[in-house]
Amino acid sequence: MLNLKSVNYHYHQECFCFDLKIEKGTITALMGPSGAGKSTLLSLVAGFIEPVSGDIEAQGRSVVGKAPYLRPFSMLFQEHNLFAHLTVRENIGLGLHPGLKLTKQQQQLIIDSARQVGVDQLLDRLPEHLSGGQRQRVALARCFVQPHSIWLLDEPFSALDPVLREEMLALVKRLVKERNITVLMVTHHINDAKAIASHYAFIANYQVESAGRIEELTEQHSNKQLAEFVLAAQ
Ligand code: ADP
Ligand code: MG
Repeated sequence: MLNLKSVNYHYHQECFCFDLKIEKGTITALMGPSGAGKSTLLSLVAGFIEPVSGDIEAQGRSVVGKAPYLRPFSMLFQEHNLFAHLTVRENIGLGLHPGLKLTKQQQQLIIDSARQVGVDQLLDRLPEHLSGGQRQRVALARCFVQPHSIWLLDEPFSALDPVLREEMLALVKRLVKERNITVLMVTHHINDAKAIASHYAFIANYQVESAGRIEELTEQHSNKQLAEFVLAAQ
């Protein structure tokens, strides 16, 4: 479904090389220390940066060289997700049409997804009048309205309090199952990963150090760096 094959990317002295295979309908938690390359991996897949070599296949086709908007992904960025001069309604609507030319049905879809994440009372507000958690939920709603079957989520719950976090985890889990979505999601929380994901990929030293089923994410793992990471995150 999503396949990264020796994806090489250089940034100053840092050399990233990613290999990762993700099966359809799975949720993979992308974990690892800060600065390890998790957001870089998502940017490569989404097409905001291009590899110097290697290939990225989605649904059996290479996406390398394609503009981000031509790739089959919905992306939630780690930060700066919303356009400051657009309302919540318009920011969500961008997921449906870049020029915001929306049908009645699409306008209803915006309202429905805003309701799902609990921001339907805020549709005419600008982002500066929202809390961090509300902004993050607007960004989630923009992912939900898109027709793409692969979601790339970069720390999607980081600004949410524990109650909302649990609600949004359950919502993502439900939508993913209903629509057979494949998800690659960065998280620092092992509990979130265990609650939602079927698989993990551990990124360290600018590469995928270890990947497997979520049950294998334990402090007894044979990869020492991963075992230490899990222990420290408990
Ligand atoms: P993580 O998301 O795991 O915390 P990142 O992928 O954001 O880590 O960053 C990994 C490293 O890549 C950092 O040292 C960062 O400075 C560097 N980096 C790579 N590409 C870029 C870029 N285009 N712009 C800024 N920094 C980059
Ligand atoms: Mg990051």
